[in-house]
Amino acid sequence: MNGHRHDAADEVTPAECADFLEQIVYLIDNELDDDDRAAVRKHLDTCNPCLAKYDLQRTVKEVVARSCSESAPGDLRAKIMVRLEQVRVEIANP
Ligand SMILES: [Zn+2]
Repeated sequence: MNGHRHDAADEVTPAECADFLEQIVYLIDNELDDDDRAAVRKHLDTCNPCLAKYDLQRTVKEVVARSCSESAPGDLRAKIMVRLEQVRVEIANP
């Protein structure tokens, strides 16, 4: 099986990425069980675009954690969901 750089098993489809973006929200909220968390982390390991987005969302999450006394987490979470929806559309329609 050597010599083939293009390995279909390692390819990530835009649809999969869109799915994982949703999972990333749950990952950030610690709402995933161990299996799902492992799957998302494995995807992040192999998918740089998703990793970049995860970093972005994690940064947002940290900002929320620091200032949660001043802002409504539910409201910000809704904004993150909207942003992720936009990212998902971008991935689906490059
Ligand atoms: Zn991805």
